Amino acid sequence: MIDKLQRKLARIGLDRFETAAYCADEQEKMIARQERHGLHVSRAVKRCTSRECGREVCVDGCWFASRTHRGETILAGHDLFNDLDLPLLAVSIVRETWVAKPGELALFDHQGAQVWVKRRFAETNATCGIFSIEASLNADLDGRRYWLFGVHGIVAGVTKADIHESLRIPSTEHSRTPVRVDPVNNLARQLGYAQKRFVQERRQYRAENGQLRRKNFPLRSSDQAEHDAWLLGLEAGARAFLFRCRRDGSKLTVIK
Ligand SMILES: [Zn+2]
Repeated sequence: MIDKLQRKLARIGLDRFETAAYCADEQEKMIARQERHGLHVSRAVKRCTSRECGREVCVDGCWFASRTHRGETILAGHDLFNDLDLPLLAVSIVRETWVAKPGELALFDHQGAQVWVKRRFAETNATCGIFSIEASLNADLDGRRYWLFGVHGIVAGVTKADIHESLRIPSTEHSRTPVRVDPVNNLARQLGYAQKRFVQERRQYRAENGQLRRKNFPLRSSDQAEHDAWLLGLEAGARAFLFRCRRDGSKLTVIK
């Protein structure tokens, strides 16, 4: 069944946003997985449905609450950026220090990382931006496994050169392109990508030409459970953050 949120997202070109039925399925699988791994899921989350959450402000781990929050952010962001009529760029950022050992994902200071990104963008003349932080599990050739955090977002009114100059992140063997800046040619899809709820294991390998590369694989069940436990401990929407704009009801407006 197509609901209101999906209809609105389809109108801006996002016709494959997750359905409420998909979320119901994922929620059920998540709860069973957490219990299998001996991890706690609150009674409130077990009561959540696509129509109503078990408590007023739900958690980011709840598929229904997360879907609503991300969908609404994409819709509001789409309106905001369209109204601004400024050059837009898609940005992806990783830092060598944005890591956590397996088992310590929830200890990572993701709010500190958000503050760092906002401070660096404050050095540019960017009009505004909408970001989200996510984690992936890196498995390196030397046997090292660790969670690596990345920030994705869309920014308005700033040049690629300005972004690189203010972020100043050197490339390393582990991350040859710590800052990626791409043009925005499909705003809805790129906003959707930046706000996604998707996590993978990124396995390192040596390509035929000798370069180190990464290939994506599904997470092990225990890693997935750790990742969901992290999200279940965050308020819905806590991974998303706004720069020089704020929520005004269902709208986003630039802070002048
Ligand atoms: Zn919920």
